[in-house]
Amino acid sequence: MHKYNDAKALIEATQPDESVTLVRPHAAKRAARYFVDNFPGKSLYAVKANPSPDLLQILWDEGIHHFDVASIGEVRLVKALLPDAILCFMHPVKSERMIKEAYFEHGVRTFSLDTMEELDKIKRATNNADDLNLCVRIRVSSKYAEISLAAKFGAEPGEIADLLMAARQCSMQLGICFHVGSQAMTPIAYCDAMEHVRAAIVEASVTVDIINVGGGFPSSYPGMEPPSLAHYFDSIDRSFEDLPISYSAELWCEPGRALCAEYASLIVKVEKRRGDELFINDGAYGALFDAAHIGWRFPVKYIGQYPSDTTELKPYSFYGPTCDDMDHMAGPFHLPENIAAGDYIEIGLLGAYGCAMRSGFNGFEAGETHISHDEPMSTLYGNQNDVERHNVISIQRNK
Ligand SMILES: *Cc1c(COP(=O)(O)O)cnc(C)c1O
Repeated sequence: MHKYNDAKALIEATQPDESVTLVRPHAAKRAARYFVDNFPGKSLYAVKANPSPDLLQILWDEGIHHFDVASIGEVRLVKALLPDAILCFMHPVKSERMIKEAYFEHGVRTFSLDTMEELDKIKRATNNADDLNLCVRIRVSSKYAEISLAAKFGAEPGEIADLLMAARQCSMQLGICFHVGSQAMTPIAYCDAMEHVRAAIVEASVTVDIINVGGGFPSSYPGMEPPSLAHYFDSIDRSFEDLPISYSAELWCEPGRALCAEYASLIVKVEKRRGDELFINDGAYGALFDAAHIGWRFPVKYIGQYPSDTTELKPYSFYGPTCDDMDHMAGPFHLPENIAAGDYIEIGLLGAYGCAMRSGFNGFEAGETHISHDEPMSTLYGNQNDVERHNVISIQRNK
């Protein structure tokens, strides 16, 4: 990995033919520090958002010592890198063999579940261990979030009380967890969910030791600029304080996106232009899954041959490099009207659910990764007024 001041410096130095991932360790540090210092409880990092070992190490060094893992692969990965990390296996549907390996070989004690069957599995797989922390996942609305997590998991109101009572019998600490959906655009999402938590506690009348509000904390994308994270933390803190739980109860959260979105961007090359469609060298099977499949609009920055003040922006869509029509990102992405083959584009905020979802389909593998010292294209962790607002810069190409 080399270090560059920014994407422009990297392009001037290397003129890359493959897409390049630019990572910003300072941005990940800042996000971790913010959660550690300001969230009114414990922050677990949801590893699936970006499992890169460099990032895991940065988060660890900044004080994130708990990790939300969802597969035995993630358990092994984090344990191998950070042997002292505390892992919480928060996928509510697991195989018995995986639970067993997690418990006996990797010291995992915290598991989530949303059915009696899963509770029985956990009991069998751990030989009825008496040191388990079990979190009952309840279903809450995803209506305030950009990506739903409401359909797949979560116990329904009619099932929750029995499940809490049964889980209480075999838990050292009993928890309730939920996920409001990813990129929740208002703190109300959490307040609403906490009302379901309250109802569950009242109905089951059990002692609950952990309230885990899950992930869903937003980042700032074009057309999706959320309120400040301080508002989210305040609302969660107030809802938590209002719950019928003991003073010693713990509050947890599991941010994925918010801890790593700003960590990485991607430099792509324009291979061809056809009207307002740009053919670029990364796409739906690379780091742009969300741009292709759910129409996510990432911020873009033109890095090409024209100076920024002679160009007007217009909307474009992208085609990725594979041979099928599905490798298409509708955007719109606003770029200069005279952009041409051979120019480069930096696509921002791809640290979460970008690099992590890359496949090597059609032979288009991950290109190099380098470090950049500049600021991410937007941030929720700085003085908002300092964030660079314009999205055009220019370079002299040496050809
Ligand atoms: C995906 C996931 C997270 C992280 O969600 P973000 O929206 O990225 O913050 C946290 N907890 C669970 C259980 C998840 O499945």
